Amino acid sequence: MKNIRARKPFPVIFAGAGPGDPELITVKGMNALKKADIVIYAGSLVSKKMLAYCRKAARIHDSAPMTLPEITSLMVSGARSGKRVVRLHTGDPALYGALREQACVLEAQDVPYEIIPGVSSAFASAAALKRELTVPGVSQTVIFTRLPGKTPAPANEKLSLLSRHQATICVFLSAGMIDKTVRELKKGYPPDTPAAAVYRASWKDEVVITGHLKNIAARVKAAGISRQAMIIVGRALDGAVGECSKLYAPGFGHGFRKK
Ligand code: SAH
Repeated sequence: MKNIRARKPFPVIFAGAGPGDPELITVKGMNALKKADIVIYAGSLVSKKMLAYCRKAARIHDSAPMTLPEITSLMVSGARSGKRVVRLHTGDPALYGALREQACVLEAQDVPYEIIPGVSSAFASAAALKRELTVPGVSQTVIFTRLPGKTPAPANEKLSLLSRHQATICVFLSAGMIDKTVRELKKGYPPDTPAAAVYRASWKDEVVITGHLKNIAARVKAAGISRQAMIIVGRALDGAVGECSKLYAPGFGHGFRKK
């Protein structure tokens, strides 16, 4: 008799969709979508255009109205019936994506999974602003944070405390609380610190607002922006300040280039 072995299930793939522009998904993420039987995507911030990469026969679910058990049971039953399941997250799945709670369920049920990174909206926003977030002589640190909302934040991560570093800071999920965001940031940064808000970076309706801490809240509100926006603050946004890196300095040699 032939030894019939159960086929190994395909791992569930968590893929970063990138910030919105369908060209900003990775090639690997796009290839996973092309092969998928079941796709669960975060409808609020993942462009439907991305779904054009999927096969016609693929079953596509918007996770926005779904609960965690509904999402994970789709993943588990799909994987167990030999289907290729892709869970598409906005930006990179490692940031504010509820990745851990989904992955924990899969681990508990012995369902394998893999993660394909994506372009975070923090980087798409920096690109829209045409700015480097780490400028020598100005800031060598980037903080990703948010104001607490329904999800609380630990007390030692208060925006007012983080702002004391005067590093470059990317504030997610907080555009609707712009007054509070600015109030907290002003506890550490001077009011003339450059600040920006990027609404729907990389989408066709992207809006870029620049200013300083003292006026950014008024500008964001005047533009009617209260969601889907990244707030970035720090002197690195001032394109005129900073030193050149040593990397390309003529008088400086390193392992790949002699002096
Ligand atoms: N994992 C995502 C973040 C999800 S949390 C990432 O890596 O980008 C959702 C928040 O991300 C939004 O409230 C907003 O602050 C930010 N965001 C997501 N897409 C955005 C975009 N295209 N432009 C600006 N901000 C965006």
